[in-house]
Amino acid sequence: MPTVSIVIPVFNEQDGISPFLDAARPAVDRALALIGPDARAEYLFVDDGSTDRTGDILAIIARMNDDVRALSLSRNFGKEAALAAGIDQAAGDCVIPIDVDLQDPPEIIIEMVRHWLGGAQVVNARRIDRSSDSWFKRASARGFYALLNRLSDYPIPENVGDFRLLDRQAVDVIKQLGEQARFNKGLFSWIGFRVATVDYVRAARGTGSTKWRLGKLWSLAVDGITASTTMPLRIWSYIGGSIALLAFAYAAFLIVHTLTTGIDTPGYASIMVAVLMLGGLNLMSLGIIGEYLGRVAREVRQRPLYIIAAEYGPGAAAPSIPLSQDESPWTDQPMRA
Ligand code: UDP
Ligand code: MG
Repeated sequence: MPTVSIVIPVFNEQDGISPFLDAARPAVDRALALIGPDARAEYLFVDDGSTDRTGDILAIIARMNDDVRALSLSRNFGKEAALAAGIDQAAGDCVIPIDVDLQDPPEIIIEMVRHWLGGAQVVNARRIDRSSDSWFKRASARGFYALLNRLSDYPIPENVGDFRLLDRQAVDVIKQLGEQARFNKGLFSWIGFRVATVDYVRAARGTGSTKWRLGKLWSLAVDGITASTTMPLRIWSYIGGSIALLAFAYAAFLIVHTLTTGIDTPGYASIMVAVLMLGGLNLMSLGIIGEYLGRVAREVRQRPLYIIAAEYGPGAAAPSIPLSQDESPWTDQPMRA
């Protein structure tokens, strides 16, 4: 039984896997030494439908190292789902999700384990300096967390990513949350438990390039808000109420005005403004209801969050080496998220 599970979602990271293991091993070994002589680690990679040689490399590495396991998802399900797959399959007494690109420094794991041994059940890693991220990413992240924490019923700490330590008890709770619109950072905060925090400086990406595009980040942000709070739905009751009050006041004014000074015909501008404003507000509120309704529809279908196509390493059903991309007859379909 492993003590510490390191869960690493990977998507087209063929050049990042070996450097990651080389960098993570010394740190994880030092963390294991803190726990005791019998402590073991497992490195659980989740191949999120990579189209390069990531899957082949993982299968080989999992064969050669008895502390490495790999899951291969049937297509690209996105980082949130890949991470959920890893957390579901991790066997350790504590689970640490980490990015393969070494932007989450493995040395922090030692600090995390120290807090865990001290009784913390969730250890957050907080980025105190994000100057390696682009200006836009930092600004949009700051805006997003400010908005989310205003709306949300429970705070989601700013500058804390998926990199953190989760105790077995916390992991078992997370495994029961079968949400489709996955926003792991929100779930990790929502569960509560005894939380400790470690600070670190975010490094630049080691190899490869970022897998987030603006559209994906936007979806994650909307998922984050709709998964954390229903406040945006309620806001429309307040806006509607205020506009109705204004309308009543204006109607009263019009009645008095017409009775005292007679009818005045010009009114094109005020009618246009009222029609356009109310039409716009209606469409916007419909859109927000639609965002929630779409997610309800997704939950109702109850499809699995991810599909595991193959497993490599200790405990895997059949140890096998996948066909490489060039030989495989199944990869002529382009993979899409
Ligand atoms: N990732 C994944 N599936 C995806 C996109 C990303 O499993 O669809 C993995 C990726 O391989 C990496 C981690 O998620 O290990 C973080 O991705 P990335 O470094 O691109 O994100 P960033 O650091 O720019 O936020
Ligand atoms: Mg990264």
